[in-house]
Amino acid sequence: MASAPRRAALVKMHTSSTRATIPAPTTTTRRAAAAGSDRATMATPTPMRSLHVAVIGAGAAGLAAARELRREGHSPVVFERGAGIGGTWIYEPPAETEDDGHSSMYESLRTNLPREVMGFLDFPFAAVPGSLDARRFPRHEEVLRYIHEFARRFDLSGLVRFRAEVTAVVRVLQDGRWTVRWRNKAAAAAGGGGGGGAAADDAGEAGEEEQEEAYDAVVVCNGHYTKPRIADIPGVDAWPGKQIHSHSYRLPDPFHDQVVVIIGAKNSGGDISREIAGVAREVHMANRASPAATCERLPGYHNLWLRSMVERADPDGSVVFRDGSSVRADVIMHCTGYKYSFPFLDQQQGRIISVHDNRIHPLYKHVFVPQLAPSLAFIGLPFKVIPFPMAQLQASWVAGALSGRVQLPSEEEMMEDVRALYAELEAMGWPVRYTHCLKHNQFEYDDWLADQSGHAKVEEWRKSMYDAASKKKVECPETYREEWDDHDLMDQANQDFQKYYCIL
Ligand SMILES: Cc1cc2nc3c(=O)[nH]c(=O)nc-3n(C[C@H](O)[C@H](O)[C@H](O)COP(=O)(O)OP(=O)(O)OC[C@H]3O[C@@H](n4cnc5c(N)ncnc54)[C@H](O)[C@@H]3O)c2cc1C
Repeated sequence: MASAPRRAALVKMHTSSTRATIPAPTTTTRRAAAAGSDRATMATPTPMRSLHVAVIGAGAAGLAAARELRREGHSPVVFERGAGIGGTWIYEPPAETEDDGHSSMYESLRTNLPREVMGFLDFPFAAVPGSLDARRFPRHEEVLRYIHEFARRFDLSGLVRFRAEVTAVVRVLQDGRWTVRWRNKAAAAAGGGGGGGAAADDAGEAGEEEQEEAYDAVVVCNGHYTKPRIADIPGVDAWPGKQIHSHSYRLPDPFHDQVVVIIGAKNSGGDISREIAGVAREVHMANRASPAATCERLPGYHNLWLRSMVERADPDGSVVFRDGSSVRADVIMHCTGYKYSFPFLDQQQGRIISVHDNRIHPLYKHVFVPQLAPSLAFIGLPFKVIPFPMAQLQASWVAGALSGRVQLPSEEEMMEDVRALYAELEAMGWPVRYTHCLKHNQFEYDDWLADQSGHAKVEEWRKSMYDAASKKKVECPETYREEWDDHDLMDQANQDFQKYYCIL
């Protein structure tokens, strides 16, 4: 794993020669009219191109994209296959099958970031009188409330077509525009949940139907916590127990009195192990990073152990760890992450874009496909980041590149940057699947995006608070949501937020 300075150097190496070209700000009447409430508070640069843009997904990233695109003078249409905004933050009750549903939230989930850090840059995620959970690390309902508040404040819901699932995105070779094919699911799902609270579009009463529309550009914001990655366990096909992925986990009750092996000890693995330990007979959390001999009972638990990685599963029900010890388990739960998936990108793009071992190739700065830039962009792909502010900065960059306000490098320069990134990762011994992992350099990346787009940067207090919270989470996984010592940073954050309260 690379050291922090090494990864920081990596970002600097790849900043390329191109800088943003940002004309002097002037306010235009047309943009102000198009912009809704967002517009009233800022002077904006004259757009060079105003495009019709399809945004896929109305989660945090899609809403950030819609806001920035419209702020730039474009006309975005957001396609959302569900009935509400909020994406993965819309809790879905226990699913019938492994692949059901979009959300991966479990019932008790609380954020793993403090709310001050997590929110969009100019829209504080503060506890307010209408909050559903005023705690610093709130439950998922409070995040969904905040996303709704963001959409309401910037008047975004009207841009969203609900129950509209994009099934294909095809580049029209003659004019470089895009055909977006989408399925109207409104009638088929009439009366369905979604929990979003924003009204679903009531068009399409005739039932599911496919439609096509032309767009100048497509911005993909479809999320990447839906398609489970499963650990490859030798012998598991003949193993008689039950396997599930954390994507399908909702409540601990079904694990009552069972022996459960959890694979993965990161955010979800750690939280779910502790929750299940409250009802299960035994929980064994297998961690790939632990030495073979690891078999530690976690302090405060009589039935929760940290173990080394699983070596194999046997037909007699045993699950064998790397040190040769074994347990008879009822369930293996894979808390092993997710795969990127873009089922709507057709074969035509398939020759240009590929996903192999969770590397999306080729992507310039995790956003643009060089050959198709800027008319096809991806927002929200990097992981080990603070997602909302990063999506906001990426969206601002994409919006600027589409209008022509921001210049991108040539296709060859972007490809060179991609190749250089791969070479660096390889030299550092990082696996391919970590290509979009920004564990050690997210803030350099965010600052670079801000420089390119002319957007305000991530505040210094937020960076320090993220580092402090990450450290605390490792040191005190049981209590980090209740006890902290970064009070000075909280004061700075709350002071900083004051300037937004007066305009919100
Ligand atoms: C268990 C869990 C815990 C997390 N905890 C935190 C946390 O504490 N703090 C934090 O900041 N982040 C957390 N995250 C990360 C979270 O994913 C991001 O905060 C953020 O919600 C990502 O937003 P998104 O818009 O990129 O994706 P999503 O929220 O997944 O939204 C994607 C949207 O695209 C729609 N869509 C997909 N395909 C199509 C299609 N073909 N046509 C139309 N619509 C489509 C989906 O219906 C969905 O609404 C967590 C994630 C998980 C899974």
